[in-house]
Amino acid sequence: MLFRVSSRIVAVPSKNGDDPRNHTNQTQRESAFLELDLTFDANLSCILPSLRSGRSTKTMTNKHRLLLTLLFLPLQLSTAFAARVERLIDTWRPEHYQVNITLNDQLSEITSASTQISILVLKPTQVIDLDFGDLTMDKVSLNSVTVPFTHQKGKLQINLPQPANAGTRLVVTVDYHGKPKDGLVLTLDKDGKPTAIGDNWPDRVHHWIPTLDHPSAKATVTFNVTASPREEVVANGRLDHVGTNANGQRTWTYTENSPIPPYCMIIGVGEFARVDPLPMKLIPISYYVSQSERQLAEKGFSPTIPSLAFFNYMIAQYPYEKLAMIVGATRFGGMENSSAIVFASNLLTRSGPPNMSKTYGIPLGNVSVIAHEIAHQWFGDSVTESTWADLWLSEGFATYYAGLFLQRYEGDDAFQSYMKNAATQVFEYEKKQRTPIFDRDTENLMNLLNENNYQKGSWVLHMLRLKLGDEVFSRGIRNYYQSHENSVASSEDLRLALEKASGKDLRDFFARWIYDSGHPQYELSWQWLAGKNLKVIFKQVQTGNAFLDPVPITITTATGRRDIVLKPTGKDLIQTIPLSEKPINIEVDPQNTLLREARVKGV
Ligand SMILES: [Zn+2]
Repeated sequence: MLFRVSSRIVAVPSKNGDDPRNHTNQTQRESAFLELDLTFDANLSCILPSLRSGRSTKTMTNKHRLLLTLLFLPLQLSTAFAARVERLIDTWRPEHYQVNITLNDQLSEITSASTQISILVLKPTQVIDLDFGDLTMDKVSLNSVTVPFTHQKGKLQINLPQPANAGTRLVVTVDYHGKPKDGLVLTLDKDGKPTAIGDNWPDRVHHWIPTLDHPSAKATVTFNVTASPREEVVANGRLDHVGTNANGQRTWTYTENSPIPPYCMIIGVGEFARVDPLPMKLIPISYYVSQSERQLAEKGFSPTIPSLAFFNYMIAQYPYEKLAMIVGATRFGGMENSSAIVFASNLLTRSGPPNMSKTYGIPLGNVSVIAHEIAHQWFGDSVTESTWADLWLSEGFATYYAGLFLQRYEGDDAFQSYMKNAATQVFEYEKKQRTPIFDRDTENLMNLLNENNYQKGSWVLHMLRLKLGDEVFSRGIRNYYQSHENSVASSEDLRLALEKASGKDLRDFFARWIYDSGHPQYELSWQWLAGKNLKVIFKQVQTGNAFLDPVPITITTATGRRDIVLKPTGKDLIQTIPLSEKPINIEVDPQNTLLREARVKGV
């Protein structure tokens, strides 16, 4: 997800290109592209624009900020004392949820709910312990027989009449009602109409659905949502059926047949205007907005189809049955619920200039948030972080692939600005906080929505791409995705996939960039020696261990330029380089290939 997005987003030096007025034609082109690409296994290197070309020399003046709301400040507390305890799968796991929910006409409470959880027992147990908030309990059944339970402090514990062995399948049904404190947000839309929209990240779904509320506990889900006939209902997955009941209410049935993380399980209920942008043969796409924003939807969401096409081509076939883009209640700038993404209510009315997309004619930040949430459908939703410490596999990927989308559709200058902004944000963050990307300590999961998981994670992918080359990187990522599709993955799974694709040992790289903290701060000084030699003194002045990444430098003399790669083996390196004339300038990493700060001192 993204936190609130500022209206002042990425600076994109206008370069060439596509007239924003052509965006409708662009959309139609991409629609055809998507349909073709669903079955097209192409060599990806042709679509990955070269990183080394077209380096931006323009000054970046604006920031792409993922702004934390005051609600969640301060950003970080030191949590160096104890490893976080996560609710991991242990004795049982959910396989399927059937969630039957009836809402009252005012959408102010759940009149009645009955959630059936299909469970696979993994180890002998006599207890099924669900996460569940404080809605009013009516009944619990086990395989259709009412059983006793205890419900306190967010836990619903069901004691089985007899121990269940590994391999046993059980169906637990929980009946309840009331007004959820969180997770299912009951509020008004922009027109003052009541809405009910799920917003669960990171572990808030259990306030309205009894679950094993950890991202690794993925399951399929069916929603039967009953509401007033004036309401439109959307949820994860395919719409199977809409029927009218004897009392005049309607019941909508949606089924998501791919296992998804519990934080992605949502319904959206309201008097939405539904806009279907184009007839899509293979993936139905719909926009759900308030009635007063109906006219804004098609243009506001115009990067949707190109994003789907781009990621479909870059990564793999889109993993879900449809895609709904919803404007509604979320505390985030966007929330990537599988096949039913929710965007903040101001998405379509944010002020635009000066940072407008030259391709879509909408604020550039909206382009990146739309691409970011759609990229999550592959990374985060389909391949889900196995622990919270692996969150960068979701957020870092979504951030980087949104950058690649900008590179493809807004130009290389936009991408360079995006990555440079990301680097600046990491440097600022690391002045205040020094934790590894792989963070096992931070207790408040909201605090994991930080520059480590987003911007630094995206830079790690960027550096891996440069280190391995476009073709190998793409192949490695595709293999990683296919190996963990509809499942979970760890940082080690990614390392092994990229090692397999490249034949390179990436243990040191991951050890320094993922499992350790900080970034390199280089200081290069040099002396011109008699005998036509250049003495280079290259230091890493950051606290902590050295970074062993090779560092390109460019030496400029009166008659030309020479590129050299320094290969640090520790924090200090002294190297004498034969050179025919005295340098007039030396640059460290002139093409911004590393997440680093650098200073050069001539002598
Ligand atoms: Zn995200």
